[in-house]
Amino acid sequence: MGSAVDGPRQWVPRSGRNVARGARVARSPGAPGLQECSALLSSPNVEVAVAPEGVRGGHGYAGPVPVDKVLLAAPRGFCAGVEMAIKALAWMVRAFEPPVYCYHEIVHNQQVVDRFRDLGVVFVDDIAEVPEGRPIMLSAHGSAPEVVAAARARGSHVVNAVCPLVTKVHHEVKVRSGKGYRIVYVGHEGHEEAVGTMAVAPEAIDLVESVADVDSLPDTDQPVALLAQTTLSHRDWAAVAERTAERFPGLWRPGRSDLCFATTNRQSALAEIASRCDAVVVIGSANSSNTRALEKLAHGSGCARVYRINAADELPDDLTGTVGVTAGASAPEELVDAVIARLAPVEGVEEVRITDEDEYFPPPRELRDLLSGVDVLATFGFGGSVPDRPEVNDRQLRASDVLAMLA
Ligand code: SF4
Repeated sequence: MGSAVDGPRQWVPRSGRNVARGARVARSPGAPGLQECSALLSSPNVEVAVAPEGVRGGHGYAGPVPVDKVLLAAPRGFCAGVEMAIKALAWMVRAFEPPVYCYHEIVHNQQVVDRFRDLGVVFVDDIAEVPEGRPIMLSAHGSAPEVVAAARARGSHVVNAVCPLVTKVHHEVKVRSGKGYRIVYVGHEGHEEAVGTMAVAPEAIDLVESVADVDSLPDTDQPVALLAQTTLSHRDWAAVAERTAERFPGLWRPGRSDLCFATTNRQSALAEIASRCDAVVVIGSANSSNTRALEKLAHGSGCARVYRINAADELPDDLTGTVGVTAGASAPEELVDAVIARLAPVEGVEEVRITDEDEYFPPPRELRDLLSGVDVLATFGFGGSVPDRPEVNDRQLRASDVLAMLA
């Protein structure tokens, strides 16, 4: 992560670049819709259309609340893991007749979830609710091994959209518990990621959320390892990590903390602007851990007014001066555009970017296998040849464009 703050940049709303409806393709019955997906995703010049004015995305435009200036944190919003998960579920929706099932909310954002729900995705919290033979996607937060096994046992297409960085923590749990370690896991009780990670070795893990929790842990003769949920507040995690190291000399911890690059970057970017703001607006859901960490950081910076909102219509109407804006890793950019449109800053928007994120996670393996198999069949079926068929260009496709296409 870079530390230098670039100078002011001109900000251009990204979500205005909605993919034209004409680019949308009809879904065929059954899996052969994948051939159409391939053509769609490989298009080098996806047509774009800028909405004429005002706020797009269907989230409330309740009239402007003009402020002097907006400081816009960057990076913000969708991370590579969320991008991957949303695009993967979009592939599923294109590929299969509804309903497609998804274990847990694909990401913690109501707008994203509702959009998929409108397309026939059924979100469940118990694999037993999925009828035999239906396609299932497992969410980005990572699932317990028994949940993955139960999904596979139902005999349908199972696509595990777990973020690779969560998988890494699962692996660390498996390895350390296998070596006889007691694991202190810093996370939020009940959060899907924590539940899934702890289930890898429940007998070896203690969940802690605070320094007081660390103090309450029993003494142990086992070696102790420290692992963490990927989306925590850095400040909270550091305090807990320090206390754990004091309590358990010789503590093992990964070379880099488990807090992911996206969590780190979004918090660092907000830290750069918070002290310059009369108010800070954090866009994201209440059940999004990294969003709550941003909210906490803004409060900790001493900013007098901090608001976590789901959408622009939740903005208070008495904001003044300079307002900082950021978004959690599950929040679409169109929500940011809507908030800025409503703030209508008289002196404009200054984007403060601390680093560029170029991380990319390819589609889940099960989806890649499915896509390439059906794509080859469909290519032959249409009289083409495999070497001539268009490349699937998932990397260049943004999840926000996919969502717009699906709307
Ligand atoms: Fe992966 Fe981090 Fe995004 Fe979570 S916040 S999905 S761990 S990149």
